[in-house]
Amino acid sequence: MNPHPAEKTPFRGKTYSLCLDEQNSARYYELIRELTDKFLTRCPDEKKLLAHVRNASAQKSFIRKLSGRVADKELVSFIRQSLRESLSEYTSGVGQHLKSLPLSQRFDPVLKTKEEQYHLYMIEIELVNRIYKEAFRKSSYKFALIAHCLRDFRPECKAYSGDYETVCRGCTKDCLVHLGGTLLKKYDIHPYISITMDFEKLFKKIKADHKSVGALGIGCVPELVMGMRLCIEMDIPPVGIPLDANRCARWMKEAHETSFNMEELEKLM
Ligand code: SF4
Repeated sequence: MNPHPAEKTPFRGKTYSLCLDEQNSARYYELIRELTDKFLTRCPDEKKLLAHVRNASAQKSFIRKLSGRVADKELVSFIRQSLRESLSEYTSGVGQHLKSLPLSQRFDPVLKTKEEQYHLYMIEIELVNRIYKEAFRKSSYKFALIAHCLRDFRPECKAYSGDYETVCRGCTKDCLVHLGGTLLKKYDIHPYISITMDFEKLFKKIKADHKSVGALGIGCVPELVMGMRLCIEMDIPPVGIPLDANRCARWMKEAHETSFNMEELEKLM
């Protein structure tokens, strides 16, 4: 029998890898917190800093111009340089991935993410967690969407269709979806396996059924950022944990196991 994913870390992702050569991503999280604290000394308002970071990562110049009211060129240039110096080792696969991206996939906003955007997204996730953590905790209904690629690939998955999304049946105790879900349930968070592509429809349905809703995402860096932004637009406080490496079939031609940092997940709750 193959070893369980958690015993085979560190995983290498197609574009990014948060564990590098270590057994877990603890050093990455420490670095992200340090960088965010450093940027907050220059811009102490977390929401303003988030606006700068989001503005800087906008791919299209007209989007940057539209939100140019919040631009602080000196701060943004400081952030960009600091991130390049500190985070490039985590995103060493981006250049090669972009070079080999077929024409048919060059318009996919997730697959075409540039290296600098990854760095800015990493800070965006940290800031969103800091800003929305309390509101998430206070929500009357909290749900989590867990990336399907975290499941144990050895048995046949026995997950079933639940009220909102796919639900893990807990068929194997080593599966990271099951382990994450068990932890989430302890904190009254309803875990689902993320399969749907239509998040807006899903979020509307959940919101219609509950007084206040909070969302927790576990997904690859660009997908997590897109999900968090949609939540904020829909007035749902989001928090999230990035996968340690992006290895699903969308990135690599076939699905490979990946992992996430369970200690960081517990810190959010
Ligand atoms: S534990 Fe859950 S997610 Fe993992 S393989 Fe079984 S049913 Fe699927």
